[in-house]
Amino acid sequence: MGYKHTDFKYIDSHVHIFPTDIFKAIWKFFERRDENNKVQGWPIKYKLSIDEMISILKDQNVTHFTTYNYAHKAGIAEKLNEWIYEFSTSYKNAISFGCIWPGDKNRVEYIKKIFNSYQFYGIKIQPLVQNFYPFDDRMNDIYKIIVDQGKWVSIHAGTAPYKNKYVGYDNFLKFIKKYPNIHVIVAHMGAFEYQKFLNLLDNYDNLYLDTTMVFIPNNIFPERKVKQPNKDELISFQNRILFGSDFPNIPYDYKKSTEGLLEFDFDKDFYKKIFYENAKKIFKIT
Ligand SMILES: [Zn+2]
Repeated sequence: MGYKHTDFKYIDSHVHIFPTDIFKAIWKFFERRDENNKVQGWPIKYKLSIDEMISILKDQNVTHFTTYNYAHKAGIAEKLNEWIYEFSTSYKNAISFGCIWPGDKNRVEYIKKIFNSYQFYGIKIQPLVQNFYPFDDRMNDIYKIIVDQGKWVSIHAGTAPYKNKYVGYDNFLKFIKKYPNIHVIVAHMGAFEYQKFLNLLDNYDNLYLDTTMVFIPNNIFPERKVKQPNKDELISFQNRILFGSDFPNIPYDYKKSTEGLLEFDFDKDFYKKIFYENAKKIFKIT
């Protein structure tokens, strides 16, 4: 036993893709320093061109990857979505996700376009940056389209490593009660409120959790290992968990994203499902 990262192929359900200028601004934010010159977020390992990023994913046996992105202010979501569409015409193994800004007047229009004309899989919501509640009424029309068309919402719903009033289990619960049939992926397995999010899986059939930054080595984010989800829960919900990495915005080698999971030494089928099969099924990858 003892599987290695290279023993598997992957669909990475939590990759970010942004135009280079936005990536640079995000990296600057992660690497900002306090008055003692200490990095506030974390240093980014993969500050590369888009082409270089894609070839790294390929080297890591990643066959498909999402294009998670988000608008941080009004008026840019439409442009960002157009850029992602262009990107996806060059990179056919991209699982295209778009973005929204709830205050944009033309939001319904551009969301219909990304689904109907561009065949995007869904949208990403990042309440930590976008500052709105997941159950915000301005999103009603959008969620209705998503539910009607069987599209996906990926949401950063947890409170780790940072929080604001828009994240957390209670806000997510209000959202999912309002849209019980919506296809939704909770990033980072809802860290660190794992148990609460895991408990929802029995009640909401279209809810999935991604493993992003949860099972990484102890010495990187010490608090994570202590607070990891319970092993038996992982086994019982193995059909509802998706592998994700947060590439390229990570401070460590890509391989570390799977290290903690591989250490559990579960059987091969468990890993195949989480690393590949579950995402293949939900994103209907052929
Ligand atoms: Zn992310």
